[in-house]
Amino acid sequence: MGERTAALSARAPAGAIQVTFLGTSAGIPTETRGLPSLALSLGGEILLFDCGEGTQIQFRRAGLRPGRLAHILISHLHGDHVLGLPGLLMSLQLGGRTQPLGLHGPPGIGDFIRATLERLAAHVAFPLEITEHSGPERVVHGSGYEVECRPLEHRILCLGYALQEAPRPGALDVAVARRLGVADGPLMGRLKAGESVTTADGRVVTAREVLRPPVPGRRIAYCTDTRPCPACLALARDADLLIHESTFTSDRAEDAQQKGHSTAAEAAAIAAQAGARRLALTHISPRYQDPEAQRADAGCLFPATVVAADLQRLTVPKRVA
Ligand SMILES: [Zn+2]
Ligand SMILES: [Zn+2]
Repeated sequence: MGERTAALSARAPAGAIQVTFLGTSAGIPTETRGLPSLALSLGGEILLFDCGEGTQIQFRRAGLRPGRLAHILISHLHGDHVLGLPGLLMSLQLGGRTQPLGLHGPPGIGDFIRATLERLAAHVAFPLEITEHSGPERVVHGSGYEVECRPLEHRILCLGYALQEAPRPGALDVAVARRLGVADGPLMGRLKAGESVTTADGRVVTAREVLRPPVPGRRIAYCTDTRPCPACLALARDADLLIHESTFTSDRAEDAQQKGHSTAAEAAAIAAQAGARRLALTHISPRYQDPEAQRADAGCLFPATVVAADLQRLTVPKRVA
């Protein structure tokens, strides 16, 4: 409950990656769950994954700042994932946005948004940089992170995404540097910056000799809508957080298969196989009013599971060396 309450003050601690669930329902909204959307905040930027109807209201409720929105990544062209886009873009325009916005998704996303805005005579003056992907490929090359996409297994082309943070350089092992004859002071700083230095007695010491191994960056995967598939596994590999659809529970495994969706237990099996650290279930069918059904279905296979609620926020801590 603590993390959920914290959603009201959206300031992230320095260096934190935060995921805010804006809509966690599937197909149609319920009293408590809106249509799919999720905001990922890192380094002062927000990436929005999917944009179901009502996303812009949830975005405000979560205390997120529209000026920080840098990229929108759409999984597929089913209405529950895209119908919030025209309204959001129109509000950004009315809010006086001037900075560019990336919009990424499967082929057709550009047509959809251009045709809708044109029909509504809604002019978007800020640069809207639309790119269409079929994957696997890199979608965003950000500062200190990248986002890749892969085609999942759904009824139409649907992209899963993984955000991979760049590794952090390892810390300087001062004791080793001293042992090699490096004096305290500016030479230490240069080694830390990755340079080689020459000691007072003429010996060359390279950064490699004195830096600890790099610390891997964080990885967050977003897989919805989909059957469990090798692409989910690849995106979720070693992820700090896997966000996976969980439209059904195991007693409706046949429905999941026929409709191109997953059960909570199938999502949990992907998380376990991929070596993910945490699993957040979303895209919950309106038939489930109590999240306990989903949690129980997934929990025995993968205990580190949360059933996401609207406006719930999860923090992904930095990895330690
Ligand atoms: Zn959906
Ligand atoms: Zn769908």
